[in-house]
Amino acid sequence: MRVAIVGTGQLARMLALAGMEMGIRCSFLAEPGEDTSCVDGLGTVIHRLDEWGPEQTLAALGHPEVVTIERESVDVELLRELAQHRPVYPNPDAVATMQHRLLEKNLVAELGLDTAPYRGANNAAEVTAAIEQLGLPVVTKSCRDGYDGRGQQHLRDEAELARFSEELDSGEWLVESRIDFEREVSLIGVRSGNGTMAFYPLTENQHHEGVLVTSMAPAGDIAPDMAQRAIDYLAAIMSELDYVGVIAMECFVAGERLLINELAPRVHNSGHWTLRSEASSQFENHLRAILGMPLGQTQVSGCAGIVNILGDYDLTATLRTLPAQATLMDYNKSAAPRRKLGHVNITGNDPGELSHDLKRVREHLYPAL
Ligand code: ATP
Ligand code: MG
Repeated sequence: MRVAIVGTGQLARMLALAGMEMGIRCSFLAEPGEDTSCVDGLGTVIHRLDEWGPEQTLAALGHPEVVTIERESVDVELLRELAQHRPVYPNPDAVATMQHRLLEKNLVAELGLDTAPYRGANNAAEVTAAIEQLGLPVVTKSCRDGYDGRGQQHLRDEAELARFSEELDSGEWLVESRIDFEREVSLIGVRSGNGTMAFYPLTENQHHEGVLVTSMAPAGDIAPDMAQRAIDYLAAIMSELDYVGVIAMECFVAGERLLINELAPRVHNSGHWTLRSEASSQFENHLRAILGMPLGQTQVSGCAGIVNILGDYDLTATLRTLPAQATLMDYNKSAAPRRKLGHVNITGNDPGELSHDLKRVREHLYPAL
């Protein structure tokens, strides 16, 4: 069986590695000039050509049974064209909604799910009007192409708002109330074409300057009714979108409230711990879902976590300095500030011990944090 993946980053790499174990071959569609080193040696890589129609593109990709994506910022029109000839999962409409923060928020709000109060804005005057209604502090986010905290500003006072307004380019913005949360969690879910759904345990995430650094699952001390609410929220979203494949939902925990922050129509960094757990990994389950196979196990009796390796590291040298139970996934990328180069994975049976081990690795990698 063959799956074509749009995108060639680390998520494509991990999908392809999972596919290999299952006898599934992957091919990859890159944008012109895209760095494809993450998928070196893992299957056919082609760079998109404007003059190609969907049939030529599919032929160059080796006539895949199904097409999927590994990143959010893909050309939805291309997906729509490919979908005339092959199943594309998740469907292009679902991807279009999640590509645009305001459309995504509207979906969440229309389903009646809890999220930070928000407004859309297209210029400085509208941002100011939104802030008059919402009150400071707010977070402004560009509606498109944001990731790892890029395109975001936290505005705490009038001076920050004035500075932001001066620099504001025209564009589409989501303005939302800043939530004073205690913790951040995410839920990874998967849905098959026949509507069957499965959910991994909630994962607790720690970010630094908008970038995920550590994840651990199951998230500790979450009331059962909150964990169930998270599942109900994501189930409602997946059903509404007729979603097929893995999806991630990032949330804030603030007291009794669970507020949805954002959705990602793909496998997710906070689900990388599943690679080294008793459960089927998120990558395996994504492939199972899009190929119409029964979903694999998502429950775990122990615990697992990861620390991202960001920035300028020699990964082989890093592995030598890690505790023996830590494993390393190297994405085969060149180093750059804040860039995700790989992650360290640790599993355990005792959440307290695992949390301590993850903290040690994190302090070792980032003594200044
Ligand atoms: P990524 O793609 O890496 O998840 P992103 O750029 O899509 O990040 P968000 O997830 O929306 O952006 O925000 C990044 C981080 O900024 C959040 O994980 C959270 O720590 C903080 N943040 C975002 N929105 C808010 C908010 N309304 N209130 C408080 N903190 C926020
Ligand atoms: Mg996020």
